[in-house]
Amino acid sequence: SEAANLLRKQFHIRVKGRSVPSPLQEFQAVRKNGEFYERLLQNLKWSGFVAPTPVQRQVVPVLLQGREVLAVAPTGSGKTLAFLLPLVINAKRAALKGQEGLKALMISPTRELAEQTARVLLLLVRGLRLQCCLLTAAAVVAGVEFSKMDMAVTTPLRMSKAARRANLSTVRWLILDEADKLFEEGLTKQIDRVIAACTHPRLVVSLFSATMPERVEELARSMLKAPVKVTVGERNA
Ligand code: ADP
Ligand code: MG
Repeated sequence: SEAANLLRKQFHIRVKGRSVPSPLQEFQAVRKNGEFYERLLQNLKWSGFVAPTPVQRQVVPVLLQGREVLAVAPTGSGKTLAFLLPLVINAKRAALKGQEGLKALMISPTRELAEQTARVLLLLVRGLRLQCCLLTAAAVVAGVEFSKMDMAVTTPLRMSKAARRANLSTVRWLILDEADKLFEEGLTKQIDRVIAACTHPRLVVSLFSATMPERVEELARSMLKAPVKVTVGERNA
């Protein structure tokens, strides 16, 4: 619509894909029927997230529609919350419908980045009764019950090792974060292994990156079926 295009222009958002939903005007716009939204919106506020950043405005409604996203936005633009917020909502709605097992899996290139993502995730899910974990080697040794988790954050190496034992067939949402780093550090094989283990017939894979070199875009095209591409900021040279 024209209003949507105006918002995109205002926030320097470019989109590619069929009938892409309008960007969010505010976080409150995610709210639907369900008591948990109140608590989630409070958690956002308490965590200092008052207004959505441009990438969050556009990515959140696309992921809430259950569509794949290929998001390119600069470092520091708020990509983490852009996938965490809709995934928490999707996971909570699935849990309320009685769906069991791991629903959302987020892959970061390094342990440190995975920790950062997990920290934000834990802020978001306070009081929502969703089981979330950072899957590390230590967590595996400690015997974390992966099957009892709703959402998990991990690295390609850790996950490809755990994939043999973990049941990933219930995973509906798979996020590949910092994709430029993921693919440039030769982690493609581990990622392929994880994707192969995610056998849900309606698996939604999404990819987030600060840059989109041609090689990464090609890999993305091979892993995603019909992504909505969201670009924020300067055009790739
Ligand atoms: P990226 O992954 O795009 O590099 P991050 O998700 O790590 O960016 O976010 C960068 C910083 O911006 C973090 O410190 C985060 O807390 C902050 N941030 C993200 N979204 C918002 C928001 N809506 N309001 C205020 N601060 C935000
Ligand atoms: Mg990031």
